[in-house]
Order: sequence, then structure tokens, then C-alpha cells
Amino acid sequence: MRAQPAASHFVDGRPLEDETGAPIPVIYPATGEEIARLHEATPAVIEAAVASGVRAQAAWAAMRPVERARILRRASDLIRARNEELSLLETLDTGKPLQETLVADWASGADALEFFAGLAPTVTGETVPLGQDFVYTIREPLGLCVGIGAWNYPSQIACWKAAPALALGNAMVFKPSEVTPLGALKLAEILIEAGLPPGLFNVVQGRGGVGAALVTDSRVAKVSLTGSVPTGRRVYAAAAEGVRHVTMELGGKSPLIVFDDADLESAIGAAMLGNFYSAGQICSNGTRVFVQKGIKEAFLARLAERADAIRMGDPLDPEVQMGPLVSQAQLEKVLAYIEKARAEGGRLVCGGEASVSPGCYVQPTVFADVTDEMTLAREEVFGPVMAVLDFETEEEAIARANATDFGLAAGVFTADLTRAHRVVAQLQAGTCWINAYNLTPVEAPFGGVKLSGVGRENGRAAVEHYTQVKSVYVGMGPVDAPY
Ligand code: NDP
Repeated sequence: MRAQPAASHFVDGRPLEDETGAPIPVIYPATGEEIARLHEATPAVIEAAVASGVRAQAAWAAMRPVERARILRRASDLIRARNEELSLLETLDTGKPLQETLVADWASGADALEFFAGLAPTVTGETVPLGQDFVYTIREPLGLCVGIGAWNYPSQIACWKAAPALALGNAMVFKPSEVTPLGALKLAEILIEAGLPPGLFNVVQGRGGVGAALVTDSRVAKVSLTGSVPTGRRVYAAAAEGVRHVTMELGGKSPLIVFDDADLESAIGAAMLGNFYSAGQICSNGTRVFVQKGIKEAFLARLAERADAIRMGDPLDPEVQMGPLVSQAQLEKVLAYIEKARAEGGRLVCGGEASVSPGCYVQPTVFADVTDEMTLAREEVFGPVMAVLDFETEEEAIARANATDFGLAAGVFTADLTRAHRVVAQLQAGTCWINAYNLTPVEAPFGGVKLSGVGRENGRAAVEHYTQVKSVYVGMGPVDAPY
């Protein structure tokens, strides 16, 4: 199987290759097969990408918002028309089953392009009356933005960053994760086909060093990163040097609280979606499932039954529900967490093994009797490993749910809606769900509090993060100077 793109990078409207850059082998995680070989961006490639972004941005910002919007909407139509072929590529790049990529990845990317195309022409300033004088404000683009992506939703992340940036008049240089470099190149091609002027969305490949070079470039106005907390800290600090705008979408260890009056099947379904979808490689996963004591054993018994029935295997088989992890390195990391959970006294309810060889597969795994101190309850695993903790009272559940440095997401399952709103009001998380989990429609702002990040993607909130406000004071009378 080959998925070799025309070139490693996409700069100034066309594919760009520079084979002197370090090789990046692209591995299909279901088989370990090399499906493409790319090269890291050299300083010359980075320079070309940044320079063409700066060059193109001013004219783009001067266009009418409806004209920019028309191009983005065309791109979203092209993505929808090609969803099948794009989803196949996403599956090869990530190992996620077609059953997921066909509905989740490019589909939500197309939504973002459509949503921000619709939103951009509605963005206006305000008038501030001051008696005779007045102030009006203009929302201006930031300039050249850098997007840096994680490997779990590579094409969605590229679209979620490109769509608001471009709609609001910015240019973007995007660096995908070296593990999943293919989707962003397709987005760049599609945007050009839809009519985007060259230079406005450039893709450069590389590891952390390439990202670091982009973040510290003096011509860059903003950095939007999706990644882990340690990388977020480094990128945030580097961006601070130039007082650049940032959006940081970082990791989580989110709580999902199930009260004893909850609809059990729905709560179990949500816990499974929030731990096993994309083989558990989702930042907002509800990886600490707090279950009220009275229903704990019934919850676990039914959960194990449903988890054992998950169909694992070849991600290209449309019947398969769970594929491999993204890489051998991720497999080893997840297996080490499973070993640690066993050693620290977690009760293995189901799964717990690597499975289906070759490939980076781990069974859907559930540990019960997990305590707050165990590593499994504190660190982000990024694999299909659910920790079930039990609790007695509402106050206890809230306190323990908040006892983490992360704050990306949280969920509550209960039939008592008064309680649901009361609990949610006290949870320290950027996104909360009531009787649902992990739904992230583009219309709703998404992002974290505490170590899970700063800024918001999606929704109207994203406008704040891709524009800046200019205040214009208009004097209507003579200037009254005391000298
Ligand atoms: P990493 O933090 O390892 O990497 C994220 C991106 O940053 C990659 O493209 C990486 O390049 C790049 N990078 C690494 N070091 C630097 C640096 N010094 N300067 C600039 N860029 C750098 O994350 P993963 O790719 O492993 O993704 C998993 C993490 O992402 C998890 O913690 C997960 O929770 C988080 N995540 C958060 C989401 C959110 O919206 N909040 C959504 C999805 C994931 P390379 O990989 O090539 O080294």
C-alpha cells in the first residue's frame, strides 16, 4: 500500500520537495508497513513558507469577508464530495477504523470551513458614543499564524485551525505531527482548488525542531498548538518571547461522573465512547469514570460485556470498530500504563493485553477499584484504558473530579437535571456534557482550563483568538489644549 504525496511540503500554492531534510517514514499502524517517505523541512523550506504567508496575507485581509467565505465554503464542498477517498487516507495515516474516519475526521473539518465561512462576514466592530466624539472598533486579522498539530485527529486539527484563521483574514503555516503528515497536504491542495490564493495555507513537515523554528520567527503573530502539556509549556514560553498570541489545546484527565439514577445503558455507552473511540486517543476522553457505589457492580458487569464485544481488527474493514494505536511508541507507552495499573492494585475487569499481531493493537481495557493516587487516575494514557473509581456523595465526586491539574472536559450522567446543572457549575473544565460525552460540534467553543490550555477553538469564541481589536477615536470638535 502506498500513499506517497507529490512532495513533503506545500508552499506558495504548490508541492515543494527538499530531499536534504531528514527522512520521515510514514507507517500504517495496522501492519507496520511504510506507506510514504517524507522529508523534514530545511531552513530554506521554512523560510519559503513564512515569506509566502507574509506576502499573501495583506491582499487576503483586504478582500471582502463574503469573498473569502465563498472560497472556504467551496473547499468544504470539495471535502464532502471526496470524503471517502480522504477518509481512506486518514485511516492509513492514523490506523483509525474507516467506520470512524468516514464520519468524524474530514466531516468535522468540512463543518469548520463551512461554519467559519458563514461567521466571517458577520464579524463587525462596535461604536462607542462619547457625547460629541465617538470611538469605533475594527476587528483586524493578526497576520501570519502558525498551527501545530497532534497525531490523533490530524486532518480535523488542520481544518479547525485553518478555517477560523483564513476566514478572518490571516495566513497560516501548518506543521502536522511527524507521525501523521498526510492529511494537511490534502487540505492545502483542496484549498487551492477552491480558489485560495497561493501562500495563505502552507504545510511544512518536521519534528519538534521545525515547530520551534516557526514559533520563534519574528514574522509570526500567533501560534495555535494542539499537543501535550510538556510541549504546550515549551511552545507557550517560546511564543512569549515575542509576545505572540497563543491558543493551547493540551491534554486532559477528564472525569465522567455517573450517579445512581442515571440511565445505565447510556452512561455505559458514553463511557465507552469516551475511552475507546479512536482507540482512546482523544484529549477530552473521560478517563476517570466515577460511578456511584450502589450501581458500581451492575455498571462494571454490563460494561465488560459490551467492551468484550467490540470488533477489533483491520481498520479498512467497514465492520471493524476499533483499530490499532497510532504507533509502536504509543503501544509501548500504553502497555506500560496497564502494567503499572496492575502493579498499583487496579482490578482488571476486561482487556489488558496487546492483541492482533502485527500492528499496534491494545484490547479495550477497564480497571475497577482505581484510587485517586494511582498513576492511572493521574496521568494521561492516550489509549483504550478506562479507570473506574467509586464514590458515595455528590460533594465527594465534585471534589475528586476537580483534584487534577488538568481541566479539559467533564461529564455528568443523572436523571436529576437540577443536580446535573449544580454539579457542572462546580466542575473545573472547559467543556462539560450532561447525559452525553465527547460531542464537539464546531458551533460550540472547545478548549481547556488549568493545564489543559488557554484560548478556545470553534464557535464564536474563536473569533477572539484570530483577530485583534483596533479602537479608533474620532474627535468631532476643536482640540482643547491647556497650552
Ligand atoms: P506532542 O505534544 O508530542 O506534539 C504536538 C505537536 O507539537 C507535534 O506536531 C510536535 O511535533 C510538535 N512539537 C513538539 N515539540 C515542539 C516544540 N518544542 N516546538 C514546537 N512544536 C513542537 O503531542 P502528540 O502529537 O503526542 O499528541 C498527543 C497530545 O495532544 C495529548 O496530550 C493530547 O491530549 C493532546 N491533544 C489535545 C487536544 C485538545 O484539543 N486539547 C486534541 C488532541 C490531542 P512532532 O510530533 O513531529 O514531534
